[in-house]
Amino acid sequence: MPTCPKCHSEERQVKAGRNYSGSQKYRCQGCGKKYTPDPAPLRYPQEMREQAVRLYLAGMSFRAIGRRLGVNHQSVINWINDYAVEMPRLVGRWVSRRAITGSRNDSS
Ligand SMILES: [Zn+2]
Repeated sequence: MPTCPKCHSEERQVKAGRNYSGSQKYRCQGCGKKYTPDPAPLRYPQEMREQAVRLYLAGMSFRAIGRRLGVNHQSVINWINDYAVEMPRLVGRWVSRRAITGSRNDSS
């Protein structure tokens, strides 16, 4: 079990989704701090993710984007979701509700 970097508690650390690169995030139920104890480096450059979002907004399917960019379509779905969470004013209204899957309710 990880240790909270803020209050240093080792108790009541709960899983809280994943970050950009797929590393497990945790939330401390004692102080509310969210953190990633062991963040992995990004596997794909920002530029590729932005291209995936542009292709998605142009109407291309997740699988077609994955084939075009040479990545797994699940990665494409994750990128779109990340953008929908972090840039709602830019792309949120364009992203289908069906693309928002899982428990990505924390954007910190
Ligand atoms: Zn804490």
